Amino acid sequence: MNRCAKCGACTTVCPVYQVTGKEPHAARGKIHLLERMASSSGSKHFADIFSSCLLCGACLQACPRQVDTPKQVLKARQQIPRSSDEHSFLKFVVRKTFSQPGLLTGLTKVGKVADQALENILPADSGLRLRLDFFRQDRQELATREKYIDIASRTERQAGGISFFAGCYTNYLQPQIGIAIENLLAIAGEGLPHVPTTQACCGLAVQSGGGIIEAKELAQKNIKAFEGSGQILTSCASCYGHLRKYPDLFNDDWEWREKAEAFAARVCEFSTYFAQSSAIMDTLQNLHVGQNGQSVFYHDPCHLRFETAITAAPRHLFSRLGGITLVELPGGPQCCGMGGLFHLAHQNLSQRIRNGLINSLRPFSPTTIVTTCSGCLLQLRQGSSSQGLNAEVKHLAVFFAELLK
Ligand code: SF4
Ligand code: SF4
Repeated sequence: MNRCAKCGACTTVCPVYQVTGKEPHAARGKIHLLERMASSSGSKHFADIFSSCLLCGACLQACPRQVDTPKQVLKARQQIPRSSDEHSFLKFVVRKTFSQPGLLTGLTKVGKVADQALENILPADSGLRLRLDFFRQDRQELATREKYIDIASRTERQAGGISFFAGCYTNYLQPQIGIAIENLLAIAGEGLPHVPTTQACCGLAVQSGGGIIEAKELAQKNIKAFEGSGQILTSCASCYGHLRKYPDLFNDDWEWREKAEAFAARVCEFSTYFAQSSAIMDTLQNLHVGQNGQSVFYHDPCHLRFETAITAAPRHLFSRLGGITLVELPGGPQCCGMGGLFHLAHQNLSQRIRNGLINSLRPFSPTTIVTTCSGCLLQLRQGSSSQGLNAEVKHLAVFFAELLK
């Protein structure tokens, strides 16, 4: 581990520290704890501190010594004994659920198991109960919705060209994102993407909860599903960030590491891909939209902003559109507070971070918020309606595919 110089640069960028002001919530505090005690002997308090991280990567980018706090947090979570972690029931349920092929089918089970656990553990007015309503709402919708992979499998597709990694959100909740990607590919002059039916959840959520074994199994499943050549396009920033880190999962297994490296090298973030397509850019150039003064806010997901510095490509797509104002926050992009499991374990903190972003947007009254991360979409959808901003929240691919219809 690189030595922390205690300079405090990370405290100026950590979204959690900025709302709590508590030292253990910043990277510096967490690294200090790790330097002094083994996570395997951690108390509930210790486990709570290490669950209070969004894994956003802002601290790593700001750190002059390149201390990789998100990596250390993940490692600590894997070592925390379940008995010492007050959120272990959620982590246990999520680990089990996310390692199954049908993530959100599994979330129905999460809802039931969590309901039972909640009866015994949480008071009726706990924010965590309210947050888990997500599962209940979507349970009903899921029962009638056709999965994107099933829709895709009805059309003949060739392996060898571009493939599409759908991710759970597109597959189970918003198949229209997959359809939008297909429509954009058609404008770019490509055929239908190959969509392997055996692809699984990327594994980010289960790894964030400390489930390294399940995360490896999911990675192996996806590597096998996408065997072959050609780019693997993905429309979710979190999936993208995680898929390209598959080699890190296999540092002790060189055979799988090699396969993971070949897989990761083929993974491509969709806005980067389309921003390089002259057919897409030319088509956008000829469009004039938003006669009614439409203003659009593009939210940078942390997995693109810090880990891969993909911030220009989505804006490049907007740069060709006439008639809309692209809102930029004066202080720069802000985290939405979702952070995978963070929003389940720390609902209040998650909402405070999210509301900070919504309040920063208020003076600009955006008509639409677009982003490319499944977690951010859920968080912003809730934030926009519950905080009265009432902006429509859309995936970037859906936004552009609708314009180009
Ligand atoms: S920015 Fe890096 S070196 Fe400075 S206090 Fe934070 S973790 Fe330590
Ligand atoms: S990863 Fe993000 S939330 Fe976690 S300590 Fe670093 S800046 Fe804070």
